[in-house]
Amino acid sequence: MTTPDVDAPAVPSTPDSAAQAAHRAAVAGARQATRQDAPPGRDAYAADGARAAETAASPEPSLADRPRPGGSSGGRSGLFSAEEVRAEFPALHRTVNGQPLAWLDNGATTHKPHRVIEALTGYYSYGNSNIHRGAHTMAREATEAYEASRAAVAGLLGASSAQDVVFVRGTTEAVNLVAQTWGRDNLGPGDDILVPVLEHHSNLVPWQLLARRTRARVVPVPLLPDGRLDQDAYADLLSLRTRLVVVSHVSNVLGTVQPVREMTALAHRYGARVLVDGAQAVAHMPVDVAELDADFYAFSGHKVFAPTGIGALYAKPELLAELAPWQGGGNMIEHVGFDGTEFAPAPHRLEAGTGHIAGAVGLLAALEWLTSLDRDGIAAHEARLTSYAQQALGTVPGLTLLGSAPDRVAVLTFTLAGHDPAHVADWLDRNGIAVRSGHHCAQPSLAHFGVTSATRASLALYNTAEEVDRLVAALHALTSGEDATPPPPSQPGGPGG
Ligand code: PMP
Repeated sequence: MTTPDVDAPAVPSTPDSAAQAAHRAAVAGARQATRQDAPPGRDAYAADGARAAETAASPEPSLADRPRPGGSSGGRSGLFSAEEVRAEFPALHRTVNGQPLAWLDNGATTHKPHRVIEALTGYYSYGNSNIHRGAHTMAREATEAYEASRAAVAGLLGASSAQDVVFVRGTTEAVNLVAQTWGRDNLGPGDDILVPVLEHHSNLVPWQLLARRTRARVVPVPLLPDGRLDQDAYADLLSLRTRLVVVSHVSNVLGTVQPVREMTALAHRYGARVLVDGAQAVAHMPVDVAELDADFYAFSGHKVFAPTGIGALYAKPELLAELAPWQGGGNMIEHVGFDGTEFAPAPHRLEAGTGHIAGAVGLLAALEWLTSLDRDGIAAHEARLTSYAQQALGTVPGLTLLGSAPDRVAVLTFTLAGHDPAHVADWLDRNGIAVRSGHHCAQPSLAHFGVTSATRASLALYNTAEEVDRLVAALHALTSGEDATPPPPSQPGGPGG
């Protein structure tokens, strides 16, 4: 493997040398990943994990009278250690309002491990260049890293080729891309778009806009009282008019996992296409677009330990080949003349202008990191922590959890009788606990439960039972009248749901 030329002072143990090393590693890793067309394997971290398991930290403090499912830490399984992983996240070690931070707002965004931050610093310090043009070393290095990131996304999603992946700003942009390309070309008056009531606004509003333009119909798929998608109603609503079904893999309000494979198979019987919003799924579970038979799959980097402003859309190759350009500009053409323009093949045809190169570099680092972990161990840890939190929250007087569907991942949304959700979030913030309150960009699903606002705690692989204990203890304190400050005015609940 060739080492890239990085013309910078090699002074050991300075922040610069760390950035330089990160950049060298990123370029070397990019070359390897490009060759393999898939993210590196998990061997390196498995060794770390084994060491971590051997030197497991002492049990965490807990609410004395509450048993913890899965042992004292509530969070270790096999090679995976939440404590070990926490050490890699600088933000998790800060204090907020004089308390150690408990970040329970992972549904909105996740924190970034050192290696993602270092990859960004390394790129901007020593690797910065535009890509896909410019015949010089740094342009080539940046292009290799960008394309290696695309290959890593393909590896994460089980796509057969990196060329099936389009870089976008995030899930919202991915959905809008499909609406404005495939949607405009394939929908017309009388066509149906089936949208479950639990969808995030970013998987509803673009379809409403498209429906207005094409005179297609947006048809809501109802929920059962427990929050599950009503599969009988779904089957009844499907018809030969159905051109598209959209569905979130994991709900950002309920954490419920939708039976995407079954829904896709049914939709395909009617010739409908299926778009899966994976924003809340990819950080929590392995995804295989081939197994799901998804036509489109979207996610946001910032919810999977990568930077904001970068995300990806997977599309089946035959669909991608059909998608017309939605934005014109540089990088997406083969030839431009006043007599007409010839467009580049997908995915580049759909990526006009300079992409978020640093974001892609950070995404590559994040995905290499995530896929090197024991993902079954992560899933087991999160499942235990979620059911522990569910049980523990049940002890808070007046607390009602939204939804009781069994298959739930990492999300706990609740109301607290007599307390405005904004006030609950503010009280928790004063205790160093970050949660979100509001409508979570999913007003129809809150309406299903008869509320307009709720508080949401959302977990990630680095959360611990101790943090859940702090959440529950603070809620107990609130309900027993410890908070004497007047509640802040109710907030509508902005983005980030
Ligand atoms: N879908 C779901 C299920 C989400 O949770 C979110 C973000 N909360 C989005 C879509 C939108 O993601 P982004 O804002 O990163 O585009």
